[in-house]
This record gives sequence, structure tokens and C-alpha cells, in this order.
Amino acid sequence: MSDRAEDFFAPVRSSLAGIVGLSLLGAVTGVVPFVAVVELARTLLPALDGGAVDERRVWAIVVIAVAALFVGFAAAFTSAMVAHLVDARLQLSLRQRIVRHLQRLPLGWFDTRTSGTVRKLVENDVTALHQLVAHAIQDVVTAIAVPVICTVYLFTVQWQLALAALLPLVFAMVLYVLMMRGGVEKYRQYESAIERLSGATVEFVHGIAVVKRFGQLGRSHRRYRDETRDYVHFIGQWTRDSAAWFSVVEMVTSPVVVLVYLVAVGAWLVSAGTAEPIDVLPGLLLGLGLTGPVVKLGTSGQFLRNATKAQQSLAGFLALPPVPQAASPRVPAGHDVDVEDVSFGYDEEHRVLHDIAVACRPGTVTALVGASGSGKSTLAKLVPRFYDVSQGRVSIGDADVREISSPELYRSVGFVFQDVQLLRTSLRDNIRLSRPDATDDEVERAARAAQIHDRILRFDRGYDAVVGDDANLSGGEAQRVTIARALLADPPILVLDEATAFADPDSEAAIQAALSALAAERTVLVIAHRLHTIVGVDQILVLDGGRGVERGSHTELVAAGGRFARMWADYQANHARSRPEGVHG
Ligand code: ADP
Ligand code: MG
Repeated sequence: MSDRAEDFFAPVRSSLAGIVGLSLLGAVTGVVPFVAVVELARTLLPALDGGAVDERRVWAIVVIAVAALFVGFAAAFTSAMVAHLVDARLQLSLRQRIVRHLQRLPLGWFDTRTSGTVRKLVENDVTALHQLVAHAIQDVVTAIAVPVICTVYLFTVQWQLALAALLPLVFAMVLYVLMMRGGVEKYRQYESAIERLSGATVEFVHGIAVVKRFGQLGRSHRRYRDETRDYVHFIGQWTRDSAAWFSVVEMVTSPVVVLVYLVAVGAWLVSAGTAEPIDVLPGLLLGLGLTGPVVKLGTSGQFLRNATKAQQSLAGFLALPPVPQAASPRVPAGHDVDVEDVSFGYDEEHRVLHDIAVACRPGTVTALVGASGSGKSTLAKLVPRFYDVSQGRVSIGDADVREISSPELYRSVGFVFQDVQLLRTSLRDNIRLSRPDATDDEVERAARAAQIHDRILRFDRGYDAVVGDDANLSGGEAQRVTIARALLADPPILVLDEATAFADPDSEAAIQAALSALAAERTVLVIAHRLHTIVGVDQILVLDGGRGVERGSHTELVAAGGRFARMWADYQANHARSRPEGVHG
């Protein structure tokens, strides 16, 4: 971990040392005035007995105390300023690194991550580091340095009282540790209580129709009621327990209690003849300031722990291997897509694809069909290099996709996958995402080709309607927006995964028309569950358990009487009624 930590903080290392130095200076100068008061008292003491007072010494002490005050303010101010500057620089450089790294990761990484993961990195983790640099370092240095300096000074003056002054501190620390140890367990219980409660709530709310119909309301409602009661009971218990702990810590470290305690100890030491009255004074002044900073350390400690966790998660993210780039990238010669004896698995043990071979020519449509889980999406994702094959090769224009530079590859291959991603912005900007410089005319042309233009015009604000705001789209409509987006970029190769999966018959016909338009000059690879949508495609590859089991045109495959012929017969039997009139692939 430590070498990774160096990596993060390397650009600001000297500034961090500066912050620590300034905080130390602030801590030392913060103690000086207290020591000055003690020394002043000691110097003035002879006056009580009518003796001579060393005036030069008095003035020297006053000057030193005032100077220390000023230096202390200056140090605190400067270190706070430096901390915030460093923090801004660190955050900027971290965010830039995260974004740069995101661009270099294999697209497959995003398959299993939500935007929440990325957001956590960019927002929460960076913020946790901000807390560390901008606040916690200074607080921690002060919280440790002040008690240490005070203790050392007290021991040089009167060791018995120094020892006594340490006692509340030790007591508070022990209590704190005890409290925290129970806290971890309690927090786990708290999270599990929340989980159970939300489970019961979801069951209660979602199942209400079913539950009502089958007369199960009593049971589900009881579970919800019991979980709620348990939760309330737990929270109440926890609050009472921790309130008790907090009160004890607060009491033991409160100035009045500490002062009374120190006065008592001091009085006892003086009456026993162990200490001079004047030597008790520093113990009273400084002993009072020992515990405060340490209690504050508890909060800073939380920041430190968060920062450490954040740093580990950021380091783990930045250590993810980027997509390997070829040393001398190749430019595809043409737009044939060839899958040659490809095997692939998401992990070492489980092969998902076995020895797949298929050749897709420009101007043709190749369809992948097969049961759910047969590997269709996986195969489709190998073309835009979401993942790298384990064996064999995927090539575009005879160049292995691993040898093509990423920008070139993304220019060549457009893809529309199952999980339609629309941003919460205008429809126009959603379509324009693939080519930000496209004119409104071009956006509209793409939308027409994707059969979504008319639907968009039905929104009051048309292309300016904002997704999720005043533009609510069905699954099929949303998919056609992403098809328009892919079309606008005008890639020579297009990969479409289950483009008709959500579609109602109307939009299915529309997507059919859109697909035919797409295929004109392109190499198209589609995955479709509704077999009638691919009747007219140039070739169909049938997948079964990650193997290519049949390949040919619709007519050929039906005539062959194999697996596809059976799928087709089943499909017709099940879908004959729901099939829209007059639509033939
Ligand atoms: P299809 O699209 O034909 O339904 P997929 O290509 O999605 O099939 O899945 C093929 C197999 O790979 C399935 O067993 C699935 O569980 C597995 N799989 C799909 N995506 C991932 C992933 N990101 N990580 C691990 N396994 C996956
Ligand atoms: Mg799939």
C-alpha cells in the first residue's frame, strides 16, 4: 500500500511536508504563551515577599509570548492556505488520472459496473482524500504535538503532577477504544437491521396485490410490522448505550472536572511537601489542554480511515490493466469482419465461446440466434473489443482488432447493446453524442433513418425534450434513439444486440425498416430473439452453449431440418397470432 500511496501524493509531497512543519510550528507556539504565564508567575513571585523583580526577564517573557502568538496565527493561517491549495491540485490531478484511466480501460469493465461505481471513485473517494489533505493532517499533527509538548514540559517541572495530568487522558482513550470496539459490531447489526427492514418493506409493497388476492396480507404485514418494531427497538437501545458512553467520556474530559481533579492532586502534593505551590501552576494550565485535542483526534481518525479506504479503492482502480495497445497499430483494409476459431471465457475456468468461426461481408447482415446464455452478446462484444479473445482472432479488414488503435476501432464499429443508455439531456444531444459537431439537419436525418423522428416530434419540445423529464420513451423507442446515435456516427460496421427485444409490433416494424436502411453499405451483425425479423438476412449463425452449430440462410437452415428448423417451427407455433401483418424481415 505504501508505494501506491507515494504515487498519489508524489506531486504534492513537499507541500505536505510543509503543512506538517507549519502545523508543528503552530502547536509549539500555541503552548509557549501558557509556559510564559507560568514563568511570569515564577519571576514575579519574589515581589510577594517584597523582593526585587527581574524586570528585564519579565519583559523578555512578555515579548516572547506575544511573538509566539503572532507566529502561531501566521503558521495556522499559512498551513490552512497551503493545505487547500495542495488539496485543489491533488484533486485535479486525481480526477484527470481517473478520467484518463477510464478511457483506457477495456469496455467490458463497464459491463459489470454501474455509473455508481465510477461516481464513487470520482466523488466520494476523491472527497475523502480532500478531507485528509485539507483538514485531517493539520488536526492530527496538532492533536498529537500539543499533548506531547505539554507532557514533556510538565515532566521537566513536576513529574508527579504530570503523571496525574495524564490520567484523564488515558482514561478517555480507554473508554474511546471500548466504545469503538462495540461500535463496529453495532454498526454491522444496524446495517443488517436496515437490510431486513427494506426487504420486508419491498415484500409488503410489491407483493401487496398478489398477497391480497391470495389472502396472505396477514403474514406479509406481520413481517413488516415485526421488522419495523425490531428496528425501532434496536435504534433506541443503541442510542441509549452510546449516549451513556459519550456522556462518560465527555464528563471525564470536561474542563471543570479535570480542573477540580488537578487542583485536588496539586493541593495534596503541596501539603505533602512534594511540590512547591508555583510548580502546581503549569499542571493546572497545561493539564487542562491535554485531553481536548485527543478527543478531537477521534473525528480526524475517522477521516484518516475513510481516506485510507478511499486511497485503496482508487489505487485498485488505477492499477486495473488498460486495454493493451499495439506498438505499431494497423489500419483495417476494408470492412470485412472475420471471426476465426475464436474461444473466449470471462475467467480462466469457464469457456463461454468455443471455436466460433464466421465471416461477415460488407453490405450483408449476419444474424446470431440461440437460446439465452448461448453466448450471442459475448460474441458480438468481441468485435468492438469489449474483451480480448482467449484463442483465435477477430479481425476487421484483415487487421486483428488487437492491432487496431482504439480510436480507429471505435470509428469503424458502431454498437447498440441491450442495456440502452440514454443521458438525462435533450434527445438532440443524446443522438449527437456520437458526433458532437453534427448539425441539426444531420441529427434529424439519422433520427428519420432510425424511425424515431415522428415519435420525437410528438413531444411538445421535440428534439429539445429532455430524457426522463418531458421525454418518456418505451424500451423500443429508446433503442431507436441509440440506433440514430449509431447511424449519425456512420460507422462502416454495426453491431446490434437484441434490437427488437423490447419492441411492440409497431416499433418492431419500424426497427425492421431502420435495419434495412442500415445494412445498405455496412457490415451488420444483429442479435434477434424474434426470428421473423431475420428471415431475410444474408446468413444466420446458430449458437448453442457457446458453439456455432449451424450456419446458412433462413431457407437453407429450414430446409436442413436441424436445430434452427426446430426453433423456427416452435417460434411460428408460439408467435403466429402476435405477429404483425405484412412484416417480413
Ligand atoms: P446470450 O446473449 O446469448 O444470452 P451471453 O453472451 O450474454 O448470452 O452469456 C453467455 C454466458 O456468459 C452466460 O453463461 C453468461 O452467464 C456469461 N456472462 C455474460 N456476461 C458475463 C460477464 N460480464 N461476466 C461473466 N460472465 C458473463
Ligand atoms: Mg444477450
